[in-house]
Amino acid sequence: MRVLREFDPWRGRLCTCPRKFSLNPYTGCAHSCLYCYISAYIREAFRPRPKRDFLRRLDADLNEIRPRSLICMSTSSDPYTPPEDELGITRRAIRLILERDMLLLVMTKSDLVVRDLDILSDRCAVSITITTMDDRLAIMMEPRAPAPVSRIRALEKAKDLGIPTILRLDPIIPGVNDDPRSIKEVLDAAESAGVKHVVSSTYKVRPDNMRRMSVLPVRWELYDLGENISGYRYLPKPIRMRILETVREEVLKRGMTFAVCREGLPLNSSGVHCDGSHLIPGDGVGRDGEIGL
Ligand code: SF4
Repeated sequence: MRVLREFDPWRGRLCTCPRKFSLNPYTGCAHSCLYCYISAYIREAFRPRPKRDFLRRLDADLNEIRPRSLICMSTSSDPYTPPEDELGITRRAIRLILERDMLLLVMTKSDLVVRDLDILSDRCAVSITITTMDDRLAIMMEPRAPAPVSRIRALEKAKDLGIPTILRLDPIIPGVNDDPRSIKEVLDAAESAGVKHVVSSTYKVRPDNMRRMSVLPVRWELYDLGENISGYRYLPKPIRMRILETVREEVLKRGMTFAVCREGLPLNSSGVHCDGSHLIPGDGVGRDGEIGL
């Protein structure tokens, strides 16, 4: 079975991503975020295990796609989840990908990505998720992920090496981290770290993540008024619009570009890919939809 897979081959109606490949070195993720969506489809979701024979399979899959294809690592389990610090599988995957002249978007919630900045090239961008700058809240929501300030430092180090950086302010959860002050704190830190693009979206409820989220003061009553889309419970559209318009305004004020993820709202800056991959120098994939399998 392939480890390199076309991302969202079904073209979900709310997905505005450019065409790209998805790569997940691990099945499961130890960061154990309460709001995590992977527990809906991965057994023992918070027990990460490397994929069997992953590097050999990646090597084979890379032979079958066109050079300069966009690879996104990862769209599911974090590529820098413990035990990546001991195993180094993600690091070896990066080497293989870049040897083949591909474009790479690294997406993580860990400052362990700093270890690999020495091998990331001018065909890469780094996207880091930060949902709050409040350490106490971050530990509650993302118990085993590095502290927000460490993630900001990682963004700064990548930028200092000339690697374009993206912030994912995602998810925004009503009653938890939707306070404008909290949003501004994250954006101020990202701006100081030299982030160029921000992706944001609101929390979508699934029965599994709802059980874990019950320890947080989520405004569940707002979801009662919302709608079901593709198996997720969304906030009502006007509320999502209000929250994300606030984020957008603050992002643009700080000179960064903005996009939403799976919201179906007309808020994206012009000329960007929602995931920030337009920042990868030499990005040609996605603009014309070319992809090779
Ligand atoms: S880092 Fe991502 S994949 Fe890992 S637990 Fe958190 S939300 Fe899930």
